[in-house]
Amino acid sequence: MSGILFLRKKCQQSIIQEREAIDLEKIQKIVENQQRFYQSGVTRQLSVRISALKRLKTVLMKNEQQLTAALKVDLNKSAYETYASEIGIVLSEISFAIKHLKKWMKPVKVKTPMTHLGSKSMIYSVPYGSALIIGPWNYPIQLILAPLVGAIAAGNCAVLKPSELTPQTAQVISDLIEETFPSDYIAVVQGDADTTQSLLAEPFDYMFFTGSVPVGKIVMEAAAQTLTPVTLELGGKSPCIVHADADLDLAAKRIAWGKFMNAGQTCVAPDYLYVHKSVKEPFLKKLIQATQSLYGQNALENSEYTHIVNGKHFQRLKGYLSEGEIVHGGHFDESRLAIEPTILEKADWTDTVMQEEIFGPVFPLIEYETLAEVMEGISKNPNPLSLYLFTQNQKIEDTIVQSVSFGGGCINDTIFHIISPYLPFGGVGSSGMGSYHGKASFDTFSHQKSIMTQTTRFDNPYRYPNAKNGLQVLRRLLK
Ligand code: NAD
Repeated sequence: MSGILFLRKKCQQSIIQEREAIDLEKIQKIVENQQRFYQSGVTRQLSVRISALKRLKTVLMKNEQQLTAALKVDLNKSAYETYASEIGIVLSEISFAIKHLKKWMKPVKVKTPMTHLGSKSMIYSVPYGSALIIGPWNYPIQLILAPLVGAIAAGNCAVLKPSELTPQTAQVISDLIEETFPSDYIAVVQGDADTTQSLLAEPFDYMFFTGSVPVGKIVMEAAAQTLTPVTLELGGKSPCIVHADADLDLAAKRIAWGKFMNAGQTCVAPDYLYVHKSVKEPFLKKLIQATQSLYGQNALENSEYTHIVNGKHFQRLKGYLSEGEIVHGGHFDESRLAIEPTILEKADWTDTVMQEEIFGPVFPLIEYETLAEVMEGISKNPNPLSLYLFTQNQKIEDTIVQSVSFGGGCINDTIFHIISPYLPFGGVGSSGMGSYHGKASFDTFSHQKSIMTQTTRFDNPYRYPNAKNGLQVLRRLLK
């Protein structure tokens, strides 16, 4: 290496080290300040929580256009999708929390056993302190702000780390949060994996992560060092089963909608299809029609159709197109990172498209004859985040729901389960742990503190080893 090159490299290294030192200092300061602010008790007041939720709602409503424009740049996401699957969901989560928060915060009185005669038992939902919320790029508004609603409702401070892969949206979120909240209460830290690693080393009281399985493991490993509780919202291959007795018209419409929304870059999108042999041909026709009716004959020319987030993911998805047999779509436009809604047949479990989470507009279809085949196929993969079943048969519904392990899902629909604030949303096994949405968000960001208040009016003697017949009484009471 020449002397000049060596000096240039040294200089770059020292700039990077200096920036990292500044970032680290900034992160440590934010965390320290949040801990101090949390200790003041302010964030625990109902009025403060409600006012913060209202401010978040107002700022989102006021800046809908700015957020929509940012997502248009980052993902070519349409205004409709941005509202329906991002801003609208956060707004409805906020409204639900505001409506129910007073009740959620009330300590819950529970029964007291005979052994505790005279005492009173209560469960208090108390905040953890300062929560770290790490988000992915595919729904960069919803997946960073919906957990924040839970963190605020439960009385915590929070640091948000949006994905660096959707930088315009991350910047708008950062600006809006900065103008709405003091950073001692809610702060945004932008950056890549290194920044996230620095954040993970800080003594947060809770960590809420949405993203991939490999990074989920990194988060859990970091949390283990400080025994910080975590929620992991991860991914996986979510199957969609169309049984012989399904309403094929509705199934085709609802599946096309769930799969190709956001160009398939949805953690709960149907990943692959299992279709009963007897209805495969008519269903496939209807699925193609439904897809075309949503995005036109040429989705690549449709300005409302979402693009792939970056070149790396585009190349990964393009690779799937050479597996199996394309029965619909298959075209792409590399200059705009767009891939047509594509349906594949004859993909094999040994193909990468059947081994990896697809996370894009490529849809392999497998035909089946028996449900046993389907269950065996699903069980070859790690636990799916979601499962969708189209059938009119209650017994089949019961069999699949009871015997297949998956996070959650729908019968005769796709994705809609995650929009209900009454249904906790989360994975199981490798698709995640913990859940949120509605009251589940409040519960996730709250510690359940059990308190027994003992009477001082009398003192039960049997607990003491010197009580007369104490052992006999204890045996009777505890039996
Ligand atoms: P990702 O795991 O690559 O990134 C998520 C976050 O982790 C980002 O903020 C990123 O900066 C950070 N990160 C990345 N690499 C890191 C590292 N080595 N160390 C520390 N932090 C790191 O996920 P993604 O690509 O943004 O999102 C796609 C994945 O997320 C898919 O697997 C999808 O299924 C999953 N997902 C799950 C849900 C859910 O609710 N369960 C929702 C959306 C996406």
